[in-house]
Amino acid sequence: TFDTRALQQLDSAHFLHPFTDHAALRDKGARVIVRGQGVYLWDSDGHQIIDGMSGLWCVNAGYGRTSISEAVYRQMETLPFYNSFFNTTNVPAVRLAAELVALAPPQFSHVFFTGSGSEANDTVVRMVRRYWDILGQPERQVIISRRNAYHGSTMAGASLGGMPGMHAQGGLPIPGIRHIGQPNYLEAGQGMSENAFGLVAAGWLEEEILAVGPDKVAAFIGEPVQGAGGVVIPPATYWPEVQRICDKYDILLIADEVICGFGRLGTWFGCELMGFKPDLISFAKGVTSGYVPLGGVLIGKRVAHALLEKGGDFNHGFTYSGHPVACAAALENLRILVDERLVEKVALDTGPHLKAAFNELATHPLVGHAESCGMVAGLNLVRVKGASMHECVPFERALQVGMLCRGHMFELGVIMRAVGDRMIVAPPLVMTRAEIDEMAARIWDCLDLTLEDVRS
Ligand code: PLP
Repeated sequence: TFDTRALQQLDSAHFLHPFTDHAALRDKGARVIVRGQGVYLWDSDGHQIIDGMSGLWCVNAGYGRTSISEAVYRQMETLPFYNSFFNTTNVPAVRLAAELVALAPPQFSHVFFTGSGSEANDTVVRMVRRYWDILGQPERQVIISRRNAYHGSTMAGASLGGMPGMHAQGGLPIPGIRHIGQPNYLEAGQGMSENAFGLVAAGWLEEEILAVGPDKVAAFIGEPVQGAGGVVIPPATYWPEVQRICDKYDILLIADEVICGFGRLGTWFGCELMGFKPDLISFAKGVTSGYVPLGGVLIGKRVAHALLEKGGDFNHGFTYSGHPVACAAALENLRILVDERLVEKVALDTGPHLKAAFNELATHPLVGHAESCGMVAGLNLVRVKGASMHECVPFERALQVGMLCRGHMFELGVIMRAVGDRMIVAPPLVMTRAEIDEMAARIWDCLDLTLEDVRS
């Protein structure tokens, strides 16, 4: 048993949390999570919670996988640490690099390991600029990203990200990062078909390339489906058109697969579902299901060839690049995803079931629109429903309806994320049909409570 109040007081006295309203935390106390099994968590007061967010979009294989903890334990006993600098390597890192290349699309040949997704994106920034240096085009420095994207919290990661609240703190972005609009049909596609809007949104990339000057642009980076920015699922025309534009101007294309990678969309990598072939993929989260921190960059043959054959040393690396314990956890996690056919399951079984459950939730009076892709889904809360999403009447921002809803989620034992008035889930890939139904029932109750709040 736990003394929740004492833990909360210690937490509030000493723990500076990421992205947290500390005044609210002081008043209410942090929720202390103590245990997990499958798709469920338990807090220090014994409440059971369905984790609709896989932690932070990462516990793809679910909680309580003893085979991962055993693999970690065995590796810690054998070799808890060694680095991969200066011509050394270790067995799990070698095996994992080969396994990742085998799982990735065919254009990939190498992996650079990091400790997190943010470090992976910092690595990408240095790697693409280094690539153009090696090719004798050092003026190609600019990386184009998208507003409202999330690419991490390091200086380069947060600069690539387009969250205004992050740029406002700490002097961001770093030089040479530009942002275009996101392919958000609901926000910007009024009066157009989805596919027409996809081409328009991809066209913003070409406009930016021409404004910067094509000989100054190094790369474009984007999440196949934008996650933390609100689960923005692009129209089917968007990514193929982005690919065409990158090819036209010979610009590197980077997929940030930190969320979409490892089965989240029902394919191993999101770019496969979205129909494009990136030169680099940044990954993290689902590679270990979050059990141990690990990230990295998958490197396509075009870039790998330049770095390895023409480039000399790449002066970049982390103490924990290729950490043997993290790599051992990843190997066992990937074995689970493969052996339990979890990626196929998302594509053929649980993903479609989640879509049906969310379509049902869209009939609730508070919900204007629902959409999903594999095991991510979102609901838009609106004041008045309309025949189409563009005809719904939104809530006034100051009401913070999403936050009201999130508050009830906690009470009702389900975790969803609020991005403005959009409620999001990204459950573990192991969530069964019955568990999806249970989650959807709790969400429905929660929507009822939120509706009472806004009516009173
Ligand atoms: N990229 C994307 C798309 C993410 O969602 C995240 C984290 O949420 C990151 C990068 C940063 O990863 P990390 O928190 O492991 O540094």
